[in-house]
Amino acid sequence: MSLPSPLNARLVWLTGLSGAGKSTLAQALQQQLREAGRPSVLLDGDRLRQGLCADLDFSPQGRRENLRRAAELSRLLLEQGQLVIAAFISPLRSDRAMVRDIGGAPYFVEVFVRCPLAVCQARDVKGLYKKANSGQIAQFTGISAPYEAPDTPALMLDTEAASVQACSTALLDHVLQGGSR
Ligand code: ADP
Repeated sequence: MSLPSPLNARLVWLTGLSGAGKSTLAQALQQQLREAGRPSVLLDGDRLRQGLCADLDFSPQGRRENLRRAAELSRLLLEQGQLVIAAFISPLRSDRAMVRDIGGAPYFVEVFVRCPLAVCQARDVKGLYKKANSGQIAQFTGISAPYEAPDTPALMLDTEAASVQACSTALLDHVLQGGSR
């Protein structure tokens, strides 16, 4: 099925370390879009791993398959003109390139949710860094698995330096203006 005009349909893809702020900003964006009369669909990596991707591990192959499913799901939604917000660590450039290819390059808006590892560890929102550092979780991004920052994201949000409010406003502005992809 061919994709509709990219005017409405968009895949806003938030990538960054665990604890960088992807879910927080994705939820804020969805809420602000709703208030602006623009419905959207939110796909959160943590949530997909509870169901659709519960059979996958965190090996490079498991992560790639997780992202392939997320991208194919996004594609189905894009074909129906939906604005999709996706929050996934998606640590590898090659896997994000796959997502862009499946979703359709004109629709893909790569947003780098930037936050230094030390700050993410200090936040440790879900207690995962503590577990990863004590060896209870293997292949944890930033600790025992790589994170490759985007070279040329459409938008970079620095959640160490800027508040949730400032970052979510910048994100909303970018999406509403149909910003550069
Ligand atoms: P992720 O989805 O990337 O794993 P979360 O959104 O679950 O991260 O957690 C990010 C944490 O960082 C939250 O507790 C949030 O309140 C905090 N935080 C502090 N500053 C920011 C910011 N500018 N943007 C997003 N989150 C922030």
